[in-house]
Amino acid sequence: MKLSDNIKYVKGIGESRAGLFAKLGIFSVDDLLFYLPRSIEDRSETKPIAELMDGETVCVKAFLASGIKTYRSRNRVAVTQATVSDGQNLMKVTWFNSPYIANTLKAGGEFTFFGKAIYRGQFFEMINPVTETESGTKKTGKILPIYPTTKGLGQTNIRNAVETVFSSLSQMPEDILPTSLTKEHGLVPLFSALKSLHMPKSAEEFEKARMRLAFEELFVLQAGICFLRNERKNYSATPIKNVKCIADFAKNLPFELTNAQKRVINEIAADLTKTVPMNRLVQGDVGSGKTIVAASAMYAAAMAGFQSLMMAPTEILANQHFKNLEKLFAPLGFETILITGNMTAAQRREALGKAESGAAKIIVGTHALISEDVKYKNPALVITDEQHRFGVRQRTLLTEKGFGAHTLVMTATPIPRTLSLILYGDLDISVIDELPPGRKPIETYSVKEASRKKVFDFVLQKIKEGRQAYIICPLIEESEALVAKSAVEYGEKLKKSVFKNCSVAVLHGRLKATERKQIMEDFSAGKIDILVSTTVIEVGVDVANASVMVIENAERFGLSQLHQLRGRIGRGSHSSYCIMFAEGGKIAEERMKIMCESCDGFKISEKDLELRGPGEFFGIRQHGLPELKVANLSTDMQLLSQAKTAVEKLLDADPELSSPENRLIKEKIHSDFLNVSENGVLN
Ligand code: ADP
Ligand code: MG
Repeated sequence: MKLSDNIKYVKGIGESRAGLFAKLGIFSVDDLLFYLPRSIEDRSETKPIAELMDGETVCVKAFLASGIKTYRSRNRVAVTQATVSDGQNLMKVTWFNSPYIANTLKAGGEFTFFGKAIYRGQFFEMINPVTETESGTKKTGKILPIYPTTKGLGQTNIRNAVETVFSSLSQMPEDILPTSLTKEHGLVPLFSALKSLHMPKSAEEFEKARMRLAFEELFVLQAGICFLRNERKNYSATPIKNVKCIADFAKNLPFELTNAQKRVINEIAADLTKTVPMNRLVQGDVGSGKTIVAASAMYAAAMAGFQSLMMAPTEILANQHFKNLEKLFAPLGFETILITGNMTAAQRREALGKAESGAAKIIVGTHALISEDVKYKNPALVITDEQHRFGVRQRTLLTEKGFGAHTLVMTATPIPRTLSLILYGDLDISVIDELPPGRKPIETYSVKEASRKKVFDFVLQKIKEGRQAYIICPLIEESEALVAKSAVEYGEKLKKSVFKNCSVAVLHGRLKATERKQIMEDFSAGKIDILVSTTVIEVGVDVANASVMVIENAERFGLSQLHQLRGRIGRGSHSSYCIMFAEGGKIAEERMKIMCESCDGFKISEKDLELRGPGEFFGIRQHGLPELKVANLSTDMQLLSQAKTAVEKLLDADPELSSPENRLIKEKIHSDFLNVSENGVLN
């Protein structure tokens, strides 16, 4: 059997079951080999009954010592019971709802029972133990790998398939890491690591193998980031010397900049004057006024005769930035253009012409900004907004387009320090830690289903007062198509019932860009009272008259995401209200309480981290990096620093990764990092 063989040819799988494996992302033998168990269950220890301790989970080898009793309990549950003996002592075994177990027991002989032994005063008892006859050695007496499963495909199916593959494999997977490296770090060779993960003989062996693969993941992750970073280092930037003119720009704004904005603008201005490219991350809570900070830098560049690019993650947001920047820059005599993937050929030709000739100084867009046919005259400043939506690679591409450009990355999502060090080791960070004055905190409430009528009445009341509202749809974790469908259905329902006298529109990711744009324009213009939306509304949208937000299933969202959503309101002079429908237990309640009590994005994300634990929080995919399957960024920190040292050494010796020994690493980096998919997340 070869690695590239289709999984359906593995003995015992076949055509129909292959479909279930496909659901887990397993298509080939190779995929199966790298489908790693999440954890192990140690069923290797076997004890005589005399040595059992109350509450311990172990194997006991024993014979039947009584008849098999089966009956129905008062609440109609089938109970099967027997007494077994290991020759010295007796133990009781009981099963609920498993009448077929009697057939297994009737066969007689020695059994292995695996389960939790509970002391009942006279006997030990095991409830629903895993039971195996003498001839079976599949489920007891050893360490079992625990895989993520899917409906119709259980642990045993996966284990059997894996064992079959291991016994009939004629080809070894290639080890990415050079032998010199694995030796130096005392790492197990790849194939034995895989074997130890799927068929571990001990917990230590499993952990050692896990570390081997975790090391590899962290190594590739960092090598990829360093590799991209080194590409960037080859550039030098155009210094923008006239930054003093930003003071004039600030003077003409309709508001006074906050001290935090001033400080950050000064930090940026200092960078702009240098030939070393600026590489700065601006973190600032929603509503802290990041756009104007970026615009200040764009102004300096324009005054010096250079172009600036601003890339936004969604069409809606790009449109909005375009409008705001155009309003700012048109009176100053600078032309602003928009480049997205949804323009007519004529519009596109015109925009691309202005980008190439340099007629446009302020260029806003989605990732269409980095399409191959877009050329710029003299871009000196490249800004990405809400950076976590973009891949590392896209940022680099944008920087390449703006050959020699200063880069500014803006985000509202605070990133834990450890993660930011890995991702942005060479990035300078500025924080806007102050909101513009006069913002009223958003009053936030967590309510239960029983209050629905009251909540909707409140929304109606606000609409009567002339305000507008967002209603965020229930979150479902299915495909985008299903999300859109449910949003539409939900919107229809609201339109027909409580909000039949209001103008209601539905916004979701499946709408055409032009439709979405139209809806947002209508909402901005006040033609729509209620915008029913999926989380596409999450970033950046700014409609000051919208002062109410209702969020369905709030317990399913991350707190930072709720905070982002909530940031869509509270942008005007009206009091704002966020009402979250949330169900769930104690943790859910505590999380909602944090939302109701705090409006500080950084504090909220810290608390969320505490409550949910680092595992979930460190979702690095949202930072545009390949997903880690084995390594855990919160517990494998030491491994991470080992991998980091190894990467530095490797790239020092072979910066282009051109030696044959490093060929596979290079290929892996290319496949993990350099494939930019449509929606802007790395494959
Ligand atoms: P974010 O940081 O979330 O991107 P924005 O840049 O969209 O925030 O700013 C939010 C709103 O606050 C905008 O309407 C903007 O014009 C306004 N704003 C920004 N800075 C100030 C300020 N110093 N004083 C008053 N309003 C401001
Ligand atoms: Mg913004």
